[in-house]
Amino acid sequence: MTKLTANFTLAEFTASDTADELGIENTPTRDELANIITVAERLQGLRDFLNSSLKTPVWLQITSGFRCEALNTAVGGSPSSDHRSGLAADFKAWRADGRAISPDTLMRTVEALGSFDQAIRYDGQTRIHVGYGPKMRGQMLRKSRAGYELYEPGR
Ligand SMILES: [Zn+2]
Repeated sequence: MTKLTANFTLAEFTASDTADELGIENTPTRDELANIITVAERLQGLRDFLNSSLKTPVWLQITSGFRCEALNTAVGGSPSSDHRSGLAADFKAWRADGRAISPDTLMRTVEALGSFDQAIRYDGQTRIHVGYGPKMRGQMLRKSRAGYELYEPGR
């Protein structure tokens, strides 16, 4: 088990049911691994921030991290997706008592910590997407059935 930060292992960023089903190894190159470590460090910072601001231990679950070319193709991901290079992760978070942390809280926390490219909240879901690609646009989006629009808290 390769530990990347105090609370994250590499396996959390490479695990994929689709990869398992299709027999795809989803192994990062050295450069991709460096990107995954960058994201792990950022999410560790986010977790530590939530721990202290919510005054409870917080658990972050990566629901989608790195995607090698074969996996990205299999899931229909864009070739330019930050997941492809290891620079993005989708995640959910829970308090120690098992209550989910709202995606709005996660969005606000990503924004407060700054230096990100894109954060996306999905209607009806507790996970959010955060990308740390080189453009660093600080873009906050909401995805609904109608498509993408600018994110506004509480909507
Ligand atoms: Zn994503």
